[in-house]
Amino acid sequence: MEGKMKAALLYGPRDLRVEVVDIPQMTDDFALIKIMACGVCPTDLRTYIGSRASTTSGPRRIGHEWVGEVIEVGKNITRVKVGDRVAINNKIPCGNCYYCTNGADHLCTNLFGAGRVISGGDAQYGVATDKALYQIPDNVSWEEAAFAEPVSCVMNGIDNCNIKLGDDVLIVGAGPMGLLNMQIAKLKGGRIIMSDIIDERLAKAKEMGADEVINSSTGDFTKMVKDLTGGRGADVVVVSVGNRIAETQGLSAAGKNSTVIFFGGTWPETKIEIDPNFFHYNEVKLTGSSNFNYGVFPRSLKLMSSKLIKLEPIISHRLPLDRVKEGFELVEKKGGMKVMISPHA
Ligand SMILES: [Zn+2]
Ligand SMILES: [Zn+2]
Repeated sequence: MEGKMKAALLYGPRDLRVEVVDIPQMTDDFALIKIMACGVCPTDLRTYIGSRASTTSGPRRIGHEWVGEVIEVGKNITRVKVGDRVAINNKIPCGNCYYCTNGADHLCTNLFGAGRVISGGDAQYGVATDKALYQIPDNVSWEEAAFAEPVSCVMNGIDNCNIKLGDDVLIVGAGPMGLLNMQIAKLKGGRIIMSDIIDERLAKAKEMGADEVINSSTGDFTKMVKDLTGGRGADVVVVSVGNRIAETQGLSAAGKNSTVIFFGGTWPETKIEIDPNFFHYNEVKLTGSSNFNYGVFPRSLKLMSSKLIKLEPIISHRLPLDRVKEGFELVEKKGGMKVMISPHA
């Protein structure tokens, strides 16, 4: 399709402009998609504020949690047809590297390889390759489907935690990702303790199913968690924010034989102090979680279709594309929860 569209372009740290540009060029390998919703993610925020060095120069498209309607298909597109509602998986493993061939394709050494997926989602149109395209179940809304990427990341993290029925699960951080971790950990049978420093976020967590909430700015955090867990500390800790204070707190509240997972990237790079004996004598397992196996993405759409998790209540702001910068500012100031951009509103 020839023509012009609006797209957000990042020129440098916090220099995000909405401009009129050409609709992306089609090839045989692409589907052209009219973008209906795009979520603002902490990963996008790091790009926006420049805390993580960009690998590309010049103005760049931004936004990776996007969904839309298929407008045109190239001849190598097999999975969808014109008119289909699709969610985009922006992480396409190469299929050939060591990790891809050993069951850990989310750790692919070329997960965002050039040419497999192209466009950013904060725009009116985008293109994606066959392997990135997934049909959205009829009972899942555009905005719900825009959570497919973050929900997939959370599914990967929770899979790494081995939660047993009745485990005390501490989730540090009650932002949008914390609330997703909370709901999915609860589905696994955990008793959920949420912590944050923002009371409104804790109130939302409580309303959405947290068993206990702690404002970590109000006292001795470790003691508060131990008081809620029979003096033991948590069986599983998910640190859902990339922040050294949160990571140190999460570790301090881990009980014997527990698993602690660092779910968020921490930027700019930093160090935390750890006591080796804490791990040795208590058999605490510290691990991380990043992205998700290729097969998780369609399962996340199935999970949404089953209505076992609630996504709409996590959305605090819906903004047209012209106000995308305001959306990033809100996320940076933690002035809401999930911000959704509607490119055709
Ligand atoms: Zn994301
Ligand atoms: Zn690979």
